[in-house]
Amino acid sequence: MKTVLTKYCALILVISLLTACDATVVSAEEIIYQPQTSVEEAIAQAGSATGGSIATNRIYFQMPRLDSWYSEYGVYHNRYYAGIYWWNGSVQPQAYPGYRASVDQYDQGVYYADVPADVINVIWNNGFFAEQSENPDIFDQHCQTEIINIEEAYAGDYDTLPEGSPNQTDMDGCIFIVDPDPEITTSPYIPNRPFVGNWYVYYGDGCYGSYATTSENFISRDENCLNPDHFDEQGVHIGGDHIKAPDVPNDTLVYGDADCDGAVTILDATVIQRVLIEYPQDVFSEKAADVDGNGLDVTDATRIQRFTAGMIDHFPIENALV
Ligand SMILES: [Zn+2]
Repeated sequence: MKTVLTKYCALILVISLLTACDATVVSAEEIIYQPQTSVEEAIAQAGSATGGSIATNRIYFQMPRLDSWYSEYGVYHNRYYAGIYWWNGSVQPQAYPGYRASVDQYDQGVYYADVPADVINVIWNNGFFAEQSENPDIFDQHCQTEIINIEEAYAGDYDTLPEGSPNQTDMDGCIFIVDPDPEITTSPYIPNRPFVGNWYVYYGDGCYGSYATTSENFISRDENCLNPDHFDEQGVHIGGDHIKAPDVPNDTLVYGDADCDGAVTILDATVIQRVLIEYPQDVFSEKAADVDGNGLDVTDATRIQRFTAGMIDHFPIENALV
């Protein structure tokens, strides 16, 4: 029995090794565009290329809690991500869907981007575009906002911000929230019917509201929080801890493949050790790295070393799944 079980686990491992880390499986006939770099990487590269720094504003986006926004084609390092596109500014994406946004609070669905200060309009999206696809099952998974103005918060367009953004002349520190009302949540003005919404001041942890923190009408982050997901049935603000972003399905994971190169090697143990001392890593999947399922620690690196040395043939987390 033990032998059978071991073979079974080995088989599972072989199957999972054949699965790409990001598990975006696209047939050759489909042309799907995905962000090739993050906003921060693009801005940093442009800055170093010109020998100066590029002024930016930080804007936020909460991915709507609708299944339609969480597409298998918008997965990067085992997380759903948001994309951001604009078509002017001192740095600009080459093509739609633009750059990958950074994660602010994954469980709150909040993303952010540091956008060049001279950009006027942006579009947030769910990180992929399948314009060429004739397969409606793929095309219909693409979601985006309307074209959003990110300057002149005081100009009167932003009825949710009666006192302007934190800076009053731009949307720095603000968050775009898609309108939850399905009757009016898509714009009739653009053919593929993007989602409409409004800007709010972002307070952090998924809380947002109408007032800048400097306003005399601002009481506290919690008192001014407008996020409907943060209130219980009695209307008491209970914060966002109960909100959970969708988990990417487990079959997209290769356990032990911390650096997402598709294989479990001694480098994965090294990457974990570096992450534990907060050494920056471009590519890292904590979910894949936590091979015993009890949180990331040095034991995970040790288990991967033992695995690559042939001392074990599967990880404890895979026992739990089997
Ligand atoms: Zn809140």
